[in-house]
Amino acid sequence: MLICKETKTTKSHLSRWREKGGRIGFVPTMGALHQGHLDLVHRARQTSDRVVVSIFVNPTQFNDPSDLEKYPRPIEEDIRLLAEAGVDMLFLPGEADVYPKHLDTSVSLEVDHITGVLEGQHRPGHFKGVLQVVKRLLDIIGPDQLFMGQKDYQQSALIGFMIKTLGLPMALVVCPTTRAASGLALSSRNQRLTPAWQLIAPGIYQTMKWAEASLQQLPPEKITQMGREQLEQQGFEVEYFALVDGKTLAAVHDPEQHDTLVVLVAAWAGKVRLIDNLIVKGSPFSS
Ligand code: AMP
Repeated sequence: MLICKETKTTKSHLSRWREKGGRIGFVPTMGALHQGHLDLVHRARQTSDRVVVSIFVNPTQFNDPSDLEKYPRPIEEDIRLLAEAGVDMLFLPGEADVYPKHLDTSVSLEVDHITGVLEGQHRPGHFKGVLQVVKRLLDIIGPDQLFMGQKDYQQSALIGFMIKTLGLPMALVVCPTTRAASGLALSSRNQRLTPAWQLIAPGIYQTMKWAEASLQQLPPEKITQMGREQLEQQGFEVEYFALVDGKTLAAVHDPEQHDTLVVLVAAWAGKVRLIDNLIVKGSPFSS
């Protein structure tokens, strides 16, 4: 596995591969890798000739400085996992490569309809940073296929919108959320859960499954209210428990009126903020 830290060398390796007709698959990450990330890599290997993974803990998407500081960075272990998974290149840039002086990396896109709700409401500035870093990484790597996780539902929707609106010549492949046997969605943040919270945290998935099973019996407003209450009873501090249209993210009043539906949750498990979601109707990410 090649490890490239500089933009220039990265681009020259990539253009060599491209000249030989190789299709490039790209998996952007912030490291602290787990099976969810590796499943994206495996998926990329199935349909791309070369797989590039980036690790960059992007400061511009953290609205909470202590979250950025506490973000785990086990780089040696990450390198081992990626090499074992058959990754062709790890792009490991420094901040000066991603955000060079004098380069305007901001992205001017009207995205409020996606980012004005849920995560965007609770993490001001977060999606602006996500858009900026992903666009910059895409400019450097220029993949044929981009692989992202459903785990970060709004993020995947946002990047899909950017690719479509800017006409970027690549396909976005959104992969299902990888879960522990307990149902807990894998996340780099899970390692900060206390042993007690590790036992409680799967409650998020169970409660979303309850919401799915209740769709036929209860009105959406009742489901979201009861879902929130169930999580609060388990000890979570809930930021949102929402049932929305899978494409527009608009609140749902009559499920019959929507082709796609998704339950989205953000809740604090002690000092750790967890997000998760469950598609309960349709396939929002198929075009
Ligand atoms: P992160 O390192 O958290 O920025 O995540 C990098 C990519 O991995 C994003 O596209 C995430 O949506 C995806 N990802 C994170 N956790 C999971 C998971 N449990 N299952 C599938 N994809 C995931």
